[in-house]
Amino acid sequence: MPRIVQKFGGTSVADLDRIRSVAARVKAEVEAGNEVAVVVSAMAGVTDELVEWTSQMAPLHDAREYDTIVSSGEQVTAGLLALALQERGVVARSWLGWQVPVRTDGMHGKARLERIETAELETRLARKEVPVVAGFQGIGPDGRITTLGRGGSDTSAVALAAALGADRCDIYTDVEGIFTAEPRIVAKARKLDKITYEEMLELASQGARVLDARAVQIAMKHRVPMQVLSSFSATPGTFVLDEGKIVEAHHVSGLAYSRNEAKITVTHVADRPGVAAALFGPLAEANINVDMIVQNVSPDGKSTDMTFTVTEDDLARTIEVLKGAKDGFEYDTLLADSNVVKISVIGVGMRSHAGVALRMFKTLADKGINIQVISTSEIKISVLIEEEYTELALRALHTAYGLDAD
Ligand code: ASP
Ligand code: MG
Repeated sequence: MPRIVQKFGGTSVADLDRIRSVAARVKAEVEAGNEVAVVVSAMAGVTDELVEWTSQMAPLHDAREYDTIVSSGEQVTAGLLALALQERGVVARSWLGWQVPVRTDGMHGKARLERIETAELETRLARKEVPVVAGFQGIGPDGRITTLGRGGSDTSAVALAAALGADRCDIYTDVEGIFTAEPRIVAKARKLDKITYEEMLELASQGARVLDARAVQIAMKHRVPMQVLSSFSATPGTFVLDEGKIVEAHHVSGLAYSRNEAKITVTHVADRPGVAAALFGPLAEANINVDMIVQNVSPDGKSTDMTFTVTEDDLARTIEVLKGAKDGFEYDTLLADSNVVKISVIGVGMRSHAGVALRMFKTLADKGINIQVISTSEIKISVLIEEEYTELALRALHTAYGLDAD
């Protein structure tokens, strides 16, 4: 019997009527002859409110209590959906993370999944019962509730699909799938029928908000076929698959952007071995992720400028850490600029086609957009540009790579 894990995001379970429609979809899959397990998010906006209450009660809160509070949103939707299913004659039971159990490490507030013990769920599935599992939560080594970090319920669903050996994990959301670019900005964006795990991982990591990057990583590692689709329409979504299953690869499959970027330049740092380590070591210790890095040539062979990017959220801490670390290395000035956006073009086809980067640089040049920093990987080219050009750049690149819908 085919086995499917269905995951419903916050907008799909935003009120009782929507939960009833979700129940109808689950029932349809059961009646089509599938074994079904469901993972739910909290109702839209609920987790934000719970986080807000937690901060108001104690700005520097105890992470264990944060988890107790913010995990409660999923408890409500799991119970309500189980009831809605029962009302429709489907045998269903809700499951909290600790009841499954979903085991995580002890990093409260951003725990990592360790393993999901599925014995009891297997028994229930064999009896034709539908488990409705609360996403985003697990149980830590201390026996207390943990949460996986914001957006973590996609990860819960994919990990459950992997643990249950499911044939597919359907991620229901409020858009019809993965688009070549954000449709709110690029009106000619198209929905993709298929995309590879690697491309999806790059898109999610570079700013596309549809799917959580951690979930894609798990799907890729365990080869769980995924589908991203809308719970508000009946059209098929985007399948996320192995590269081998995609016959014709485009040079570029999609564009992503992230405004949450800041650029830092330190001028006149000594050009000698150990300087990069002295600069980036303290940032790594402070858990600050550095993304793009450029080191300029040193005109006099003695000193050089270094430019790198961090998320805008980390900017203030980065400046603090670098000022504190000035003992280890010398520099003249520290320039910070958060008025930047990172635009990325992504596609596995880049591996076998030359000129993809050149097309990006020419397209931006034709629009008079200056590129500040460039970074590339095998299947991605990212540039940092001034934030006000976000829309112009995305639209121009979308056309230049032949992605426009007709
Ligand atoms: N409810 C959690 C959040 O809003 C988890 C999720 O929906 O993915 O972050
Ligand atoms: Mg989400």
